Formats: sequence, structure tokens, C-alpha cells
Amino acid sequence: MSEKKYDAIIIGGGHNGLVCANILAKKNKKVLVCEARENCGGMVNHEIINYVPSIPNSVSQSIGGLNLKYNSKSTIALSESGKHIRLIGNQHLDHATIAKFSTQDADRYLEFHDKMSQFSKALGKFMLDSPPRIMNNSFSDYAKLFKLGLNVRMLGKKRFNEFARMIGLNIADELEDNFESTLLQGLIAHDSVLGSNLGPRSPGSLINLLYRMAVHGYSLFGGIYEMDGGSETFISALLDKCSKNNVEIKTSAVVKQCLIEDDMAVGVELNNGEKFFAKTVVSNADPRSTYLCLLGAQNLDTDVKRKINHHRSKGRVAKLSLQLNKMPEFNDCDDTDLNSRMVISPSIDYIEENFNPSKFDKLSSEPVLEICLKKDSNNNSSLDIQVQYAPYKVNGGWENIKNDYVNSIVKIISKYSSNIESCIENKTFITPDDIEQNYHVSGGHWHHGEIQIDQLFMLRPIPGAAQYKTHLDGLYLCGAGAHPGGGMHGISGKNAAKVVLGDL
Ligand SMILES: Cc1cc2nc3c(=O)[nH]c(=O)nc-3n(C[C@H](O)[C@H](O)[C@H](O)COP(=O)(O)OP(=O)(O)OC[C@H]3O[C@@H](n4cnc5c(N)ncnc54)[C@H](O)[C@@H]3O)c2cc1C
Repeated sequence: MSEKKYDAIIIGGGHNGLVCANILAKKNKKVLVCEARENCGGMVNHEIINYVPSIPNSVSQSIGGLNLKYNSKSTIALSESGKHIRLIGNQHLDHATIAKFSTQDADRYLEFHDKMSQFSKALGKFMLDSPPRIMNNSFSDYAKLFKLGLNVRMLGKKRFNEFARMIGLNIADELEDNFESTLLQGLIAHDSVLGSNLGPRSPGSLINLLYRMAVHGYSLFGGIYEMDGGSETFISALLDKCSKNNVEIKTSAVVKQCLIEDDMAVGVELNNGEKFFAKTVVSNADPRSTYLCLLGAQNLDTDVKRKINHHRSKGRVAKLSLQLNKMPEFNDCDDTDLNSRMVISPSIDYIEENFNPSKFDKLSSEPVLEICLKKDSNNNSSLDIQVQYAPYKVNGGWENIKNDYVNSIVKIISKYSSNIESCIENKTFITPDDIEQNYHVSGGHWHHGEIQIDQLFMLRPIPGAAQYKTHLDGLYLCGAGAHPGGGMHGISGKNAAKVVLGDL
């Protein structure tokens, strides 16, 4: 047997890997993090992230508390007519805002919000622990299943039936049943599909919204923040903890493979041939890379190989950053609006028409946009834009199409901001394909894998690996591809650490 110097080696220093590392180290485990990039943080990087949820207390407390400050952000759905909808996540004020357009929509919005918030709470409570193993005959798994059932049952008979009816539905039907404002429909539909490979008419788009709400304080338009100092402040805080907890970190350390002895993970080998041994190996890499590259297809049985090959993780969000030489003016918007989360998603049909070509790896010239005004420490401003749906691979190759596509995005923005072109100093555009290359995430997917009913909870990322343990003893998952999913919150890292500690 090889000498095991570490209790745990974490492959990847994304925020989930760092959360996991800290929790293990706080329990006096000897931990090594191997990160492929020059710096830790993974996709929690200013060029990727726009808005974030607050880090849950349970995550923060498990690593000894974090002193992070947030600026709450309101959302504005831009309309070409200038009749924008501004929502802040306060039900009373949002009701009054929507009532200016339609009193019926305003009343229905409160009902819809209340219902969705309750549903997201029922599911959300379940996110903060590892999902139960079905058919495991263990008391704790039965207890978890019972708790989930109880959470849903506690909704009451009417809501329970409604929950059962809605859970696999598409969001478009629900929004069209409730609201007459196409702009409001478009805005909520946008948040239901952001980061996913679903259109608003795709079954399952509703559950995507429930996931988002569960992460953002069970709210549709509340719980959306910019972190003071930028999202990388979170990474600095985690690295600070790592140094206090004696976590060893190697950067520019690409793990080539997981080392296996007697059907157990025993360590890692880097690209440069260095080997490190540990009692457990925890992967912050996405499930596809973990299984097919780090573990290796040759070490998977046919059934597992089939499951991981079917795992859906093709990203659909690209990122455009427009560096500005002066502030753009948006029609009928003031400075507060410019500092809000600006969304260009005028209707459900607009999104769906945009989604359709992406199914065939083609581009729509009218993508859906979430725009964020950022200022760096030198007071340079940029508009950072989440662009959906940008296929992972595009017909004709991204390199040949990128410029035209970027120009078409700027053209869309100019419908809302007539001087935008004159404000642009420089543009950078990264596709899901670039994200795959630069951030080592296969498919460049927001969540390391779709948030859909067959890839959620007890099935995330694939059946048999939903409790953070992979099919190889001693190898665990701790990233966004594991339960509950992506976004900057660290829940997967925290949940995984608990499971690893139980086995160490
Ligand atoms: C375009 C886009 C926009 C997004 N915008 C937002 C947003 O506005 N708000 C938000 O909350 N979320 C956003 N997300 C999602 C969020 O960034 C991710 O869900 C989150 O960062 C995942 O964190 P993680 O720690 O699980 O994985 P990652 O951040 O992917 O970290 C994994 C780490 O593992 C490393 N790694 C992988 N393979 C190896 C290897 N073989 N050897 C060594 N190291 C390895 C990688 O280099 C990386 O550092 C966005 C995602 C995308 C793609």
C-alpha cells in the first residue's frame, strides 16, 4: 500500500472545493487542494459571475463564520416602449409596481409568488443535506425521505395537489395562465431558464425556477446580491480560512488521473507526473470529467459508463463584457436603474424563439440578456452580460461567428440604449466552449450539469452517485454537479464534507 500523507485530496479549488477543504481541515484532517488554474476560485471569477445569492448560514458557520457584505439588487425588465417593470423583492411594493400595468397581474403576482415561495421552501430544506439513498434500508435515509414527504405534505391538501400538478410542468403555461403582461411573463420565464438548456416551454422549466428561488431566499426578485468587493471576496475569505486551517494548496496543478489500488481511490497523479496519496479523494471537477477523465472510462462498468455518457452538461450561457469609456444612457432609466439587474427578455415567445436554434447548435441574433454594471477598484466601468442561448459548439465554429454575434448583441442593447456603441472601449466574449477550456468544466455548464428532474436530488448527478460518493470507493464529488447544484453558495461542498467526514 502507498503511504497516505493526507486524509483528503481535493481535486479543484473552486469555491465548493475550498468550502469542503476547510470543513475537513477544521476537524483536524490533513487536506491538500490541487487546482489546475493559476488561482483558486474556479468559475467564481469576475469574468463569469454577475449576481449571487447570500451564502447560507449553515455553510458560513461550518467554516467558522465569514464576514461578507452584500448589496441587494433590484431587477428591471427593459421594454422598448420605455414602460419597464422594476421589482425589488418586497411583495407590497412589487404589487404596487405591477398594479400600474395591470391590477389583475398585481394580485395574481402575490398569489403566484406565495405559492412558488412555499414550494421552493419545501424543496429548499432538502438541499442542505445529502439526499437519501433509496432502497438502502437505513434509518437515516428513511428519516430524510419522511422529512421530504412531510415538507411537501405540510403544504396542505390544496397546495400539495398543486405542487404535484406543477412539478414537471413548463413555466410558460403557468405564466400565461396567471399574467397578461408579456413583459412580466418574459422576465419570470428568463429566471426560470437562466443557466439551463431549457426553453420556457420545455417540461421541467418550472423546477429550475424553484431551485433558483430556494437559493435566492425563496424569493423571485429578492435575495439577489452583488458582493461588496466582488464575488472573488468570497474566495479570498475561503483562502484565508484555508491558511488558518493549514489546508495545503497547489495551484497550476492539473490532476491527470485518480490513482486506484484494490478498487479504491488512493490518491492523484498530476500532469507533471507527481503523485500524492490520501485516504480519500474529493473531486470539485464536474461529474463528466471526474468519471470519464479522472477515473477513466476503462475503470467504469458498462452501466455507469452509459449513465455518465447520458449526463447532460452542455452549457448555453456565454459572457460578454463591454468595457466602457463613459456611462451609457438607457431609455427612461435613471442611475438607480443602471445599477439594477437589467434584463432583456420581452416575452416568452422571444425566449423560446431564441432557444429553438440552439437545439441545432445554431445562434439566434436576438439573445436573451442579463446586464450588470460593474466598477473595478480603479473605477473602470463595464457592462457584464449573461447571454443565453449560446450553444456550447456552434455550427460554423465559434471563431468564425463570434464577432458577428457580439455585434448583434450590441445591436439589441442599442434598442434600449441609443448611445451604447459610442460608450464601448473594448469587448471580451467568452463562450461555453471557452469556459470549458479555461475553467476545466466540461460543456462549460453553469451547474456542471442540467437542473432537471432526472438529474436532481436522489438522481444528481447520476443514479448511484447522488450522496457525494462516486462508484469508486474513496472517491467523492463536492462540486456544482452534485446535489443540489450550481451557483455561488457552497452547499455541495458543505454537504460533501459531512459525508466524507462520516467515512474518514
Ligand atoms: C457563464 C456563466 C455565468 C454564471 N453566472 C453566475 C452568476 O451570476 N451567479 C452565480 O451564483 N453563479 C453563476 N454561475 C455558476 C457558478 O459560477 C458555478 O455554478 C460555480 O462557480 C460552481 O462552483 P464549483 O466550485 O462547484 O465549481 P467550479 O467553479 O467549476 O470549480 C471547479 C474547479 O476545479 C478545477 N479543476 C477541474 N478539473 C481539474 C483537474 N483535473 N485538476 C485540477 N483542478 C481541476 C477547475 O479549474 C476549477 O477551479 C455562472 C456560470 C457560468 C458558466
